[in-house]
Amino acid sequence: MPSVEYDAVVVGSGPNGLAAARTIARAGHSVLVVEAADTPGGGTRTKELTLPGFRHDVCSAIHPIGVTSPALVDLDIDWVHPDLSLVHPFDDGTAAELHRTLDDTVAANDEGDGWRRLLGSLVEHWPETAGAIMGPPILGPRHPISLLRFGLRALPPVSTVTRMLGPKAGALFVGTAAHANTSLRRPLSSAAGLALAAAGHAGGWPLARGGSQSIADALVADLEAHGGTIECGRPVTSIDELPRSRAVLFDTTPWQLLDIAGHRLPAVRQWRYRRFRRGNGSFKIDYALDGPVPWTADAARRAGTVHLGGAVPDLLDAEDDVSNGRIPERPFVLVAQQSVFDDSRAPEGKHTLWVYCHVPNGSTVDMTERIERQIDRFAPGWRDLVLARHVTPPMGLEAYNANYVGGDIAAGAPDLLQVLFRPVIAVDPYRAGAEGIYLCSASTPPGGGVHGLCGWWAAQSALKQLGA
Ligand SMILES: Cc1cc2nc3c(=O)[nH]c(=O)nc-3n(C[C@H](O)[C@H](O)[C@H](O)COP(=O)(O)OP(=O)(O)OC[C@H]3O[C@@H](n4cnc5c(N)ncnc54)[C@H](O)[C@@H]3O)c2cc1C
Repeated sequence: MPSVEYDAVVVGSGPNGLAAARTIARAGHSVLVVEAADTPGGGTRTKELTLPGFRHDVCSAIHPIGVTSPALVDLDIDWVHPDLSLVHPFDDGTAAELHRTLDDTVAANDEGDGWRRLLGSLVEHWPETAGAIMGPPILGPRHPISLLRFGLRALPPVSTVTRMLGPKAGALFVGTAAHANTSLRRPLSSAAGLALAAAGHAGGWPLARGGSQSIADALVADLEAHGGTIECGRPVTSIDELPRSRAVLFDTTPWQLLDIAGHRLPAVRQWRYRRFRRGNGSFKIDYALDGPVPWTADAARRAGTVHLGGAVPDLLDAEDDVSNGRIPERPFVLVAQQSVFDDSRAPEGKHTLWVYCHVPNGSTVDMTERIERQIDRFAPGWRDLVLARHVTPPMGLEAYNANYVGGDIAAGAPDLLQVLFRPVIAVDPYRAGAEGIYLCSASTPPGGGVHGLCGWWAAQSALKQLGA
């Protein structure tokens, strides 16, 4: 009888867990993925949340980093590029626009060259920039000049960077940076905005035809084609209940890892994991609509993503409120309108709308009316189109996926040093401090988002033990 049943067991089937599993399976090792939910996918599931025939992205929707990620690029995913990547409307009916190219963006916003000065060299050298920032800060292959170029721009807070931009480009940048859901007045808060905007010019802000579920399906198909297996409906509460294996990789936060396998970790590592800080929460609503949203700004009707919140000071204040534990009266609202570009999402003539805003971690305040007032502000009359809504507050997100503690969809605050060093400062942050135990989730570099790179890097670490 063999001493182990699998070379590797992966706990959790989010994009990082699946990316780790398929990388190990492709190296010729036996792999089992164990998933708590009834289906694989983590943050890449698509479900009929409202009415029959309306297919909603339960979590992730738009994939500026995923589309060019080396961990996904070989998969059979049909990326759909909206006419406009992102539009940020204002109260006077005008809007800032993020186009596929830097030139078109600069021309559309017509405010001079600030946007180009901020992003031009990052876009021009995007493969090196991505190589420098999309991995562990110490272990990864180095592109020192690209890293320096990015770091110099990322260090100043968003509130400072916007001073070199006009009002339109400034709002575009604040909204993009606000995806990190942290205070925008702190050093390094510009990192997410730079990465998402530059990636947008390099590869677009696409959605996946059929829903983000198709990303999970493609990862699962590749895993199974290489001999890997998945067991769903099996929440893991102790590492001792898993089949014997040489390596266990956790697509969970470090706090869950402590609950499941803490007794195997050195005391110092347990202490360091406990100090990893949670991020703010999110409050999500999915709508079934009788027609497309009647945005006042025409450009917003042609955009995959729409950011609501108005001018720069309002956006900074809203995100400040959240970071200081307050509920913003006029929250920053992120909107995706997938069905405008992918007719598989809703019955003919009908539409889905994917919307969320930021709130303090674990907040129990109902944000529905505040979110809907923000949509009213830029699309009066849209409420008449609502056929059904599905509301997911922060604790609903946690109930759906244990990684989203208190509604923190980034699996740990992506702020200050935790932008770079997650969940601990270490040469190899994927090793959990005990032989054969690894962390492979968004709690590790390069952090949140659907790109699979946390899993890919963790698999490289595990393969050093298993043999490549
Ligand atoms: C509302 C929302 C909107 C988002 N929008 C975007 C977006 O537009 N673009 C983007 O790139 N990213 C977006 N994200 C973030 C993205 O979904 C995550 O960063 C990404 O899914 C993280 O992948 P992961 O593999 O680390 O973890 P997850 O995708 O969270 O997967 C973890 C998996 O582990 C399972 N699990 C946890 N604990 C256990 C256990 N004890 N036993 C067994 N299984 C367990 C969970 O059930 C889950 O399936 C969004 C997230 C949310 C919630």
